[in-house]
Amino acid sequence: MNLFQSMSEMGHEQVLFCRDAASGYCGIIALHSTRLGPAVGGTRFWNYTTEEDALIDALRLSRGMSYKCAIAGVPLGGGKSIILRDRNDMDREKLFRAHGRFVERLGGRYITAEDVGTTPEDMATIALETSYVGGLEGKGGDPSPWTALGVYRAMQASAMHKWGDDDLRGKRVAIQGCGNVGYNLAKELHSAGAKLIVSDVDQAKVKRLVNEFGAMEVRPDEIYSAEADVFAPCALGGVINDVTLTQLNAGIVCGGANNQLLETRHGDELEERGIVYAPDYVANGGGVLSGGADLFGWSTEKVRNEVLDIYNTLSSVFALAKAELIPSYRAADKLAELRLLEG
Ligand code: NAD
Repeated sequence: MNLFQSMSEMGHEQVLFCRDAASGYCGIIALHSTRLGPAVGGTRFWNYTTEEDALIDALRLSRGMSYKCAIAGVPLGGGKSIILRDRNDMDREKLFRAHGRFVERLGGRYITAEDVGTTPEDMATIALETSYVGGLEGKGGDPSPWTALGVYRAMQASAMHKWGDDDLRGKRVAIQGCGNVGYNLAKELHSAGAKLIVSDVDQAKVKRLVNEFGAMEVRPDEIYSAEADVFAPCALGGVINDVTLTQLNAGIVCGGANNQLLETRHGDELEERGIVYAPDYVANGGGVLSGGADLFGWSTEKVRNEVLDIYNTLSSVFALAKAELIPSYRAADKLAELRLLEG
């Protein structure tokens, strides 16, 4: 891979390769943009097949964070870091302290938090070396209810765009994944009078939604073809792909999962099939907005209003898509890129 060409194509500011001999720590910190504010993005602790795979992930994920923050209108940039998990016997405390020292050296241009493979305890370890870390136990709180509220608002905006009415009462919503976001989304939808169809690979999580909200359970492979008005991916990425597209019955795809489109062409295909797609990073921006409480001292009311406003943000995305005859995922990218350029 040609690193500088990739950085230039994706618009990255800086990529750091960090090494600490004493702990065996090898890390990558990718800062996509600090134009709108300090770059935020979690630390991923993962075993990649190749170092290039790790680098590509860092570049892709950090850009995703910039776009998410830009479209949410929050004064933050995008970053991401990866600690290479080469062996299982690595000393976790030494690794995360080493990472914390590198984060500290960036002097606040990058603020990290939890991500795949890391825990609040790891963040507490990082905090021994730097104050530029969020996701600490007892601070900020769980972002999932805010993410779910934002997805709910995005679903209302999608319904307005698709059916000319944002009332979700009586609408059938198929939720894939009954974890933190899926559960809280189900709660919002149940209160709004929607009918729920749910699936998860974890039976206990499914049962909770069946018992609390009268949801109908389907097998994980049946969720795509469920007789639903809305499909809400709240588990994995890449779930909109060649196989699942042919199975979808829903008129709207709107959920909390990151990177729902396996490839961008699947966003084009949703459009061609007349399925309204709420771009993932617009719909799930509630989590990053809730960080405003810790980072900018926002009150709960301020956070709530910002999250409720996802309805308007997504409506602007649909309006641009309509005006320029482009798919919604492309319109979201255009709006985010414009905000990044304007600074
Ligand atoms: P979670 O781990 O609490 O829940 C995910 C659920 O998906 C789990 O219950 C898991 O068993 C289930 N699952 C895994 N594979 C599945 C499959 N094949 N079919 C059905 N269910 C399956 O995670 P979460 O915090 O709820 O996050 C869900 C998604 O939303 C992730 O993609 C995450 O990156 C994204 N997201 C979360 C937040 C947040 O605030 N938590 C913010 C933005 C984006």
